[in-house]
Amino acid sequence: MPTLLLMMVPPVSTDTIQTTPHSSEVPDNNPKNNLHDNPEKPEPVKCQNHGPSFQALDPSVQQTIRKIHQNLGHPDNRVLQLALRRAGWSEKDVRGCSDFVCPACFEHRQPKVSRPGHLHTPKDFNDQVSFDGAEWTDPQGKTYSFFHFIDSATNFHMAMPYQQKTTESLIHSFNQAWIRWAGPPKGVMFDSATESNSDEFARFLQEQGIQSYVIPTEAHWQLGRAERHGSILKHMIDQYHERQPIQSFEQFEQCLIHLCNAKNSMSRHDGFAPELWVLGKMRPLPGNNISASMDSASFAGLDIASTEEERFQAQLAKREAARLAFVKADHSATLRRALHARSRPDRMLFQPGNFLIY
Ligand SMILES: [Zn+2]
Repeated sequence: MPTLLLMMVPPVSTDTIQTTPHSSEVPDNNPKNNLHDNPEKPEPVKCQNHGPSFQALDPSVQQTIRKIHQNLGHPDNRVLQLALRRAGWSEKDVRGCSDFVCPACFEHRQPKVSRPGHLHTPKDFNDQVSFDGAEWTDPQGKTYSFFHFIDSATNFHMAMPYQQKTTESLIHSFNQAWIRWAGPPKGVMFDSATESNSDEFARFLQEQGIQSYVIPTEAHWQLGRAERHGSILKHMIDQYHERQPIQSFEQFEQCLIHLCNAKNSMSRHDGFAPELWVLGKMRPLPGNNISASMDSASFAGLDIASTEEERFQAQLAKREAARLAFVKADHSATLRRALHARSRPDRMLFQPGNFLIY
């Protein structure tokens, strides 16, 4: 405790030593006066993010505040201010602490707890697209990979399977699944996976005039929307696979087309289906007996048994499986709970006996 009290004594010129913190003598903290009086002042604290109040303080006071903050175990600025005020520091110095930024505290800051709602800037379709790579494994252990792209303003979701995890296949998927019909988005958000973290992909984005925002590896929860919808899609593939077993890459590709169509037409974003937000109309569902007028697809199955009919029936069954998969995924209680709870990113874990430096 004595060292702590000594440290919290207000900074004064070297020849006046204060014995009590409640001394009536106010130290001269005017930076101009002090600079002239004492040329051997320590260097100012090198930190870009300090606020104006802290930067207006005398460099030696800044140094003292930083030292006290570190030696007290990095307390909150308000706690520090309270302690300094009690120790008799001048109001100016205490106020200067309000926008002090400690790099160590900043680095170890935990993500904020998510709130039930927040106001955000209005966005239009294709203003910001997030993408992520995902994998789905069938019960036999065979893995299928896909990239999926989701628009932030409308939740319009597209997925594209790939064979090899390379920058070329990412660019191919991005072109085929998104740019070909929607044009290049204004901005894209993605994590720093190897295939997107290449000069080639950076050049591709530059050529298309797309701004990029890369999520750091250790902050993957920032890509929340893409990750959430990727998990919904994987859940839907599970459901689809139960009715329409996926046995080949081509079947997986078909499955993704049907699932994205179902998801875009049946989910809701701000009261409307993503499809309605983007296309301005709901696409008719081929062969639908209830809401659409009779189309060629409705009559296709009435012919005598033929390969054509089988193909139509197979298409219909796949579409039905996709829509059922959406309903199942939408109703899944576990998924719902997981989606509506606040995100719980991994925290740093320390084992007993670890050396810590702070
Ligand atoms: Zn700190």
